[in-house]
Amino acid sequence: MTAPVLSFFHVREASDPLLSDSVTKLVEEFAKLPGIGKKSAERLTYHVLRIHQSEALALAEAIRNVKQNVRYCRTCYNLTEQEECEICLDPRRDHTQLCVVEQSRDLMALEQAGSYRGLYHVLLGRIAPLDGIGPEQLTIEALVERVRGGGFKEVIMATNPTLEGDGTALYISNLLADLPLSITRLARGITTGSVLEFANKEILADALSGRQKF
Ligand SMILES: [Zn+2]
Repeated sequence: MTAPVLSFFHVREASDPLLSDSVTKLVEEFAKLPGIGKKSAERLTYHVLRIHQSEALALAEAIRNVKQNVRYCRTCYNLTEQEECEICLDPRRDHTQLCVVEQSRDLMALEQAGSYRGLYHVLLGRIAPLDGIGPEQLTIEALVERVRGGGFKEVIMATNPTLEGDGTALYISNLLADLPLSITRLARGITTGSVLEFANKEILADALSGRQKF
């Protein structure tokens, strides 16, 4: 029964009142995803209509599970399915080093580089006044409290080398300036304006080993 829907889909706009409400709704939902325009949303909807029901429901289930089971680590704000993430709980990691990143994706990129053995703190964004994002919308207060709690010898600023990433790192380093610990930043092997999650492993490993005083 899917074929008639599909042929019709190609000649009509997704918002066409003649299209089924369910199809229109799915196109609208896909179109809300980052990087997905209307055409891509229609293509994805077409794909879902065509695949087997079990495959489509597995996708729906995966989305449901992520939303129901994944949360932020109460300590570092990394993604986890427990109260606290595996990195925070790992006694083999260096609990005196703290690496501050913007997003979990950056943490994953650094983990894949494989040379860092300390802990992390995920800011959940960066200070971006033009987008209306101030320090209070990030996890900066929790970070400062965590660092003031003691035990850290070094805080590594690994925000992205962009204007906003640098500004965020500077803001945080000022808040921590009176503490007896060293504040460093990643070496500039990472091109200014680039984004950590897309840097390759070798560059990230070099950036970590060559880090400098903030
Ligand atoms: Zn954690």
